[in-house]
Amino acid sequence: MLISLIVPCYNEEQSLPFLYEALCNLRNEQEPLGKSFEFIFVNDGSTDRTKEVIKDMAFLDKDVRYIFFSRNFGKEAAMYAGLEASKGDYVAILDADMQDPPSLIPGMIESLDKDECDIVAARRVTRKGEPKIRSFFARMFYKLINRMVEVEIADGARDFRLMRRIVVDAILQLSERQRFSKGIFAWVGFRTKWVEHVNVERVAGETKWSFWKLFKYAIDGIVAFTTAPLRLATIAGFSSAFAAFIYMVYYFIRAVILKIYNEVPGYPSLLCFILFIGGLILMALGVLGEYIGRTYIETKGRPIYIKSEDENTGKTISQDT
Ligand code: UDP
Ligand code: MG
Repeated sequence: MLISLIVPCYNEEQSLPFLYEALCNLRNEQEPLGKSFEFIFVNDGSTDRTKEVIKDMAFLDKDVRYIFFSRNFGKEAAMYAGLEASKGDYVAILDADMQDPPSLIPGMIESLDKDECDIVAARRVTRKGEPKIRSFFARMFYKLINRMVEVEIADGARDFRLMRRIVVDAILQLSERQRFSKGIFAWVGFRTKWVEHVNVERVAGETKWSFWKLFKYAIDGIVAFTTAPLRLATIAGFSSAFAAFIYMVYYFIRAVILKIYNEVPGYPSLLCFILFIGGLILMALGVLGEYIGRTYIETKGRPIYIKSEDENTGKTISQDT
């Protein structure tokens, strides 16, 4: 039985040796149990020596496969490329920085072998070592998205998971460009078992996620999986129109029936209304824009990534030289 392990790498030259060692240990442990492995490293346009490190590994180890992107396409694209290239009966995605502990994999394999589930997914129960403010916003995000989305997106869920072939094929069918894997994993369904672990700090290098990148990712996630914000704009529009109507009736009664006139006629209320309605219109336009923008990008049907080289083309190059 073949197990594919996919590792998206972006500037990970320092972490890769640690990870590779851990993966080799895993392989040595599992081979007597009848498992064989392929390690698929996806180099997401790194600017350091990641590419060379991967090539060295592939040169010495027949189980190492690789895909190189022509530029940085993001982790989502790297995961998709890896899944597409994978041939294993079980497939796992794990980070290069050891934050997804490879020590969990034997347990995951066992769960699938015993047919307890189709997916074993890892979940962080602590966010120790992460900036407080980032944890706070992350928690807020999961609360918000789970209120709007019909599938459950677990807080602390990582992209680290071992899946059966059938699940991978399902995921590959969702070929949208702005990918939000946490949602896609939940959306395809299947029986999922969660294994919990505490947060591990990365072995080397730095996180590639700035706060701004995470914020954009959060917006992508919400817009990709729900049209609830559109409804929100509609509801806000309706309620403001209703409030304005009540206000109008109130002034009508005051002026026409009770004959009370204001000293400063109409000015403050007018100003408030214009600002209020103007704001609402802008908000609704912004929300619409988000969706139209996405439709525009999807209709272009661009590929999710572009390869500059993989193990097949890479081999021909090394034969030539
Ligand atoms: N990564 C990637 N492309 C990117 C950013 C990150 O392939 O544009 C990879 C990175 O090399 C790592 C994984 O995605 O293997 C997770 O990234 P990181 O550790 O920086 O994120 P964090 O664990 O801090 O959320
Ligand atoms: Mg990490």
